[in-house]
Amino acid sequence: MRGQCEIIQDLLPLYVDGMVKKETAVFIDRHLRWCAKCGKVRTELIRNKNWEPACAKAPEDRPHVPSEEEEKFILYIRRWKRRMGLAFIGIISLGFAVMRLLE
Ligand SMILES: [Zn+2]
Repeated sequence: MRGQCEIIQDLLPLYVDGMVKKETAVFIDRHLRWCAKCGKVRTELIRNKNWEPACAKAPEDRPHVPSEEEEKFILYIRRWKRRMGLAFIGIISLGFAVMRLLE
């Protein structure tokens, strides 16, 4: 029953999270009893589910919030880039001015 497998696999993420109604859970349970393919999908989902929180706990996986020092550094880099940009424009303008003088 290929159609049923598709439905089951659609519902499995919710089933694993316990987000389905009791009747739906029973229906999925029954299907999983004989369908190895969907059982495998469920195992994968549970494995991924267990893996995620452990990963989220790791500090390097948290969204990066720049510290005060980092912000200062970023600001410094930005200012420096702006200054370099201005200097670059200045040099180009000077180059053109010199070229004109030499013509
Ligand atoms: Zn199935």
